Amino acid sequence: MIFDLNEIPAGEARTGYDVCIAGGGVAGITLAIDLAARGQRILLLEAGGQESSERSSDVYKGPIIGRAYFDLDFARLRFLGGTSNHWAGWCRTFDAWDFVGHEHIPNSGWPIRKPDLDRHLERAAKILEIPSTFADTPVAQAEDDFSHVEFQFSPPVRFGEKYLDALKASDKIDLFLNANLTDVRLTEASNRVTEFHCSNYADTTAKHTFAGKAFVLAMGGIETPRMMLNFRSQMPNGIGNARDLVGRHFMDHFHAWGGIYSAKRSDWPFKEGEETHFAPTPAFMAKQKIANAGLRMGPLTDVPRGLISRAKHSLFCNDDDTRGFARSFFDGACPANVFTGGYIRVSSEQQPNPDSRVSLADETDKFGMRRAALDWQINELDRHTIKHMVIGVGRYMAERKIGNVKLADWLLDDANPVPQVGEDRWLGAGFHHMGTTRMADTPDKGVVDKNCAVFGLNNLFVAGSSIFPTCGQTNPTLPIVQLTLRLGEHLAENFKG
Ligand SMILES: Cc1cc2nc3c(=O)[nH]c(=O)nc-3n(C[C@H](O)[C@H](O)[C@H](O)COP(=O)(O)OP(=O)(O)OC[C@H]3O[C@@H](n4cnc5c(N)ncnc54)[C@H](O)[C@@H]3O)c2cc1C
Repeated sequence: MIFDLNEIPAGEARTGYDVCIAGGGVAGITLAIDLAARGQRILLLEAGGQESSERSSDVYKGPIIGRAYFDLDFARLRFLGGTSNHWAGWCRTFDAWDFVGHEHIPNSGWPIRKPDLDRHLERAAKILEIPSTFADTPVAQAEDDFSHVEFQFSPPVRFGEKYLDALKASDKIDLFLNANLTDVRLTEASNRVTEFHCSNYADTTAKHTFAGKAFVLAMGGIETPRMMLNFRSQMPNGIGNARDLVGRHFMDHFHAWGGIYSAKRSDWPFKEGEETHFAPTPAFMAKQKIANAGLRMGPLTDVPRGLISRAKHSLFCNDDDTRGFARSFFDGACPANVFTGGYIRVSSEQQPNPDSRVSLADETDKFGMRRAALDWQINELDRHTIKHMVIGVGRYMAERKIGNVKLADWLLDDANPVPQVGEDRWLGAGFHHMGTTRMADTPDKGVVDKNCAVFGLNNLFVAGSSIFPTCGQTNPTLPIVQLTLRLGEHLAENFKG
C-alpha cells in the first residue's frame, strides 16, 4: 500500500512492523520487496514523492569543503527510486582480491569474502536485468599483468518505476511517500532502536512515529552518515559514532584521463571501435603496489581535443610506423585504414582515508537538520595506481611493437596537480558514494559488523555502499543489491514475525 504522509496529520504511532526501512532507493526497495516475499510486515519511508521536486532535493544541498566535487543535489536524487532514476547501468561484481587486506593499502580488508556475496549474484542480476556471468579473460602475452574484464549493462532499471505496482499491490508493505526520517529513538540503555520519527512537508515540525522490531538506514552513502551524525537527541555525537568513524573514509572511483594510444590496426588485440576494459591482475597489483583499477581504452573519435594537445610526451614509442602514426594523429590526419588509436581512461579504486569525509555543515535544512559537508580527498596511492596502470599498458604495447601510449601530462611529474572534477569531459568521479559507515570486525575499525548491524545497536542496520570498507574497481550498484539480499536473509532469520 502507498500512503502520502503530506496528507496525514501527526497522531498515534504506527506499530507492529517487522522491519522499518528509511530510504526508498535501490537498497530500500530491494530489501522491502525481498522481506515482504518472505512474509514480513514492512514499513518503507521515502523522503520524496514519485517525481523529483525542489522541496525534497533542496535537502540534499550542502557545501563541498575539500577537492572539487559535483553539487550534492546533482550527485544523487531524492525521490522514489533514489539515484537509480539517473544511474547509467554499469554492473560488475567485486573481485576476490577486493575483500582481502593488503599491506600496501592501509585500512583495507573486509570481514566477509566474495563467496558471501556470490550466493546472491543470481537474484541480484535478475533484479538489475543483467546476465549473472562476467567473462574475464587474460590479455594475450600479458596474462601476468592484465585481464580483459567484462561489465554487464542494466537497461538501466529505475527502481521507483519498476516496483511501483508491486509496492502499491503489496499487503505486506506500507510505503509512505514524503516521509522524511528526522530522528531515531533508542531505549534508555541506548542499545536498541525503538522508533523512527518522521516529518512531512506540510508541517516540518510535526513528528510521525513508527515502531517495529528491526530498523534499516538505506538513504545512500552521503545521506545515511549525515543523518546518523544528526541523530543527537540521545547520543551526543550521533548514532553509531562513539569512535568518530561515521562519515569518514568517503571514497568515490577516481575517474581520470590517463593518456592516448596509437596502434597498428593489424596488431590491435582489442575490439575495434568499442571501448575495451582491462584490469590489473592480483600479481600486477602486488608487484606495483597499486589498488584495483579499471582501464578503459576507447575509439579515436571519442578522444577529446584538449587531451590530445596536452598529451605531448611519448613514453613508449619504439616502432617507426607507430611513431609516424603518432605524428599524423596529432596533426589530425589519421590514415584510418592502417592505424587505430584513442583514449585511455582509468576509473581507480581509492585508498580508504579517514580524512576524506562527510561531516555536518552549520547550515540546516527545512527540518532543522544540519546539511552534509563533503571533504573528498585523493592521495598518493590513488595517483600511483592510475600512473602505473597506464605505464603498464604502454610497456606491454611497446615491448610487442603493437603501438605506443602517451601519458597525460599530469601523470608525468608527481608534482603536477591532480585534475579536478569538471576540468574535462569524463574527468572526475563516478558518483559512487562509499565507505562512510564501513563494515569491520570490531568497532574501533568500522561502523557496522559483518551482518550490517551498527556496532552497539543490535537492531539497527545499514544498507548501501556506505558499508563498503574498500571499493574495488567495480561500480557499486550490483554489490549493493547483493549485500542487501544478504541482509534480507539475516533479518528474516533473526527478526521473524
Ligand atoms: C549520474 C549517475 C550515474 C550512475 N551510474 C552508475 C552506474 O552506471 N553503475 C552503478 O553501479 N552505479 C551508478 N551510479 C550510482 C547508483 O545510482 C547508486 O549506487 C545507487 O543508486 C545507490 O543506491 P542506494 O539505495 O544506496 O541510494 P539511493 O538510490 O540514492 O536511494 C536513497 C533513497 O533514500 C531516500 N532518502 C534520503 N533521505 C531520506 C530521509 N531522511 N528519509 C527517508 N528517505 C530518505 C532518497 O530519497 C532515496 O530514494 C550512478 C549515479 C549517478 C548520480
